[in-house]
Amino acid sequence: MMIEDRIKQLIKPAILDAQAYHVPDSNDLIKLDAMENPYLWPEEIKKAWSDYMQQAELNRYPDASASVLREKLSSALNIPDNTTMMFGNGSDELIQIIMMALNKSSNVIMAPEPSFVMYRLLSSLLELDYIGMPLNDDFSLNLSAMLKSIEENQPAVIFLAWPNNPTGNLFDQSDIETIIKATSGLVVIDEAYHVFAQKSMMSCLEKYKNVLLMRTLSKLGLAGLRLGILVGASEWISEFEKLRLPYNIGTLNQLSANFIIDNISLLEQQAGQIRNDRSVVFNALSDIKGVEVWPSEANFILFKVTEKGAEHVHAELLKHKILIKKLHGAHPSLENCLRVTIGTKEENSAFLSELNKIMK
Ligand SMILES: *Cc1c(COP(=O)(O)O)cnc(C)c1O
Repeated sequence: MMIEDRIKQLIKPAILDAQAYHVPDSNDLIKLDAMENPYLWPEEIKKAWSDYMQQAELNRYPDASASVLREKLSSALNIPDNTTMMFGNGSDELIQIIMMALNKSSNVIMAPEPSFVMYRLLSSLLELDYIGMPLNDDFSLNLSAMLKSIEENQPAVIFLAWPNNPTGNLFDQSDIETIIKATSGLVVIDEAYHVFAQKSMMSCLEKYKNVLLMRTLSKLGLAGLRLGILVGASEWISEFEKLRLPYNIGTLNQLSANFIIDNISLLEQQAGQIRNDRSVVFNALSDIKGVEVWPSEANFILFKVTEKGAEHVHAELLKHKILIKKLHGAHPSLENCLRVTIGTKEENSAFLSELNKIMK
């Protein structure tokens, strides 16, 4: 039998039909496509980190419960009593674990659209029914449509990115609470951009047993580390823990996270700089003719270039070694849309100056 036939015979159709998640090559480009923190650590912090890492015993398996990290994070995040944390290799892994736990035939996953692509992608790979609920034109939640669909479809879980990616806005808190009260399923509030919004719905964990809250260190400045955090009632978390591979957070990751939490003010300072520069970039984009721009509570900005076309603008920027994210084609309401991550002052200026020339 030919290898192609054997593959078709053995691999699940949902996998055969899927496209692998594409990460573009970004060698010597100004990288403004992936919501990374652009700043390196000062030399003395780097030195202190490598000293701290000397205690790693790589001959041993990692601490499966990451107890030191757990202790540090539960006070740093101020998680409510009666809640527990679970760690993932990025919050992507936590989304995958939640979906694997809910993977039975009658269950439906719901998320607004456009939103974080992993909600749809992972649902489809796991062959879970997925309902994408279109946002309003201003990217707010369409509450009445969502309530109607919740009643009809009884979703097992609703994912809400807060602020939303790629639109950058915070959904109305009372809309979210209405949804929490209306559903008999779980609501996962994904606060990946918490440090840039400086708002949290953590207090919902005290009021509602069906809410889970997700954070990540990635956008804060540790995208290379891979550490996602899920907080919720221990009854839920203990079920999800059964699906977590025991050593998913390696020793080097745990130690690095311990170290950085002790030095968190450095990352918070960098985030403050990014928030300031966000308004500089926003104002500059608003002044460019032919650019429509949406306000953002995250470390990226969504904008639209109807006349020049997103394909053209994206390609022209790339010619000048500037990589941003093209969203055109991802969803009907993102037609001719692009998303730029806030970088350093120099990177932002380079982007704005090239964009100005392209838009002329
Ligand atoms: C980037 C992002 C994540 C993924 O974060 P990792 O922890 O790096 O896996 C999760 N949710 C949203 C909304 C994001 O934008």
